[in-house]
Amino acid sequence: MKNLRLKSNISDAGQEILKFIWDFIYERISPPEFEQLVYDHEVGLLSILTDESVEYLIEFPYRHGDTHELRYNLRKVFQGISSRCECVKYPEEFPFNQRLMFDFSEDCIEAMEYVENIFTKNMRLISEDKSIEGYWNWYHNEIKHEDEYFHEGKYYQCNNCEQCWLIILNETDPVYLLKRVFKDEIGNKVESLCGYKKKKE
Ligand SMILES: [Zn+2]
Repeated sequence: MKNLRLKSNISDAGQEILKFIWDFIYERISPPEFEQLVYDHEVGLLSILTDESVEYLIEFPYRHGDTHELRYNLRKVFQGISSRCECVKYPEEFPFNQRLMFDFSEDCIEAMEYVENIFTKNMRLISEDKSIEGYWNWYHNEIKHEDEYFHEGKYYQCNNCEQCWLIILNETDPVYLLKRVFKDEIGNKVESLCGYKKKKE
């Protein structure tokens, strides 16, 4: 990835920049919207990326170019930047396992250590949902997959950005399920988690 490189000595990137970069990586904003934000934040981007990288982002053909590859490369570069919270780096819901960890981090720390010590480091536990505990089935194209055992769900809220997360340990896989939730969803029974349905007793 010779086109995109960080400066050797970067300070923390501004939250605003991290937010729109990750919004683009996860397709929450369109390529033309991203292009406009790149123009608007040229100075801020120059404090993080090399001059050539910023030039590359400015000149990128957003309407016809390979934005899939660009998003992939941005993710590789930006996942190494520390931010005040981890929330900005993740999509709406995702299974967090060792494979993703290898995909995502060159340090390859354990997924469990990451979720329990780093992801929730700047978060506070606000409630637990015991109704989630039990067997669930994952559905794909209406086909039911085998039983998987979930521990109770824990709701956390980020001290930095106020984002709430539901975090569940799937013991069968083993994998963590992380899902962004709104504060008013907390305490409600969550029927469907990343395509899962609770097993009927
Ligand atoms: Zn946050």
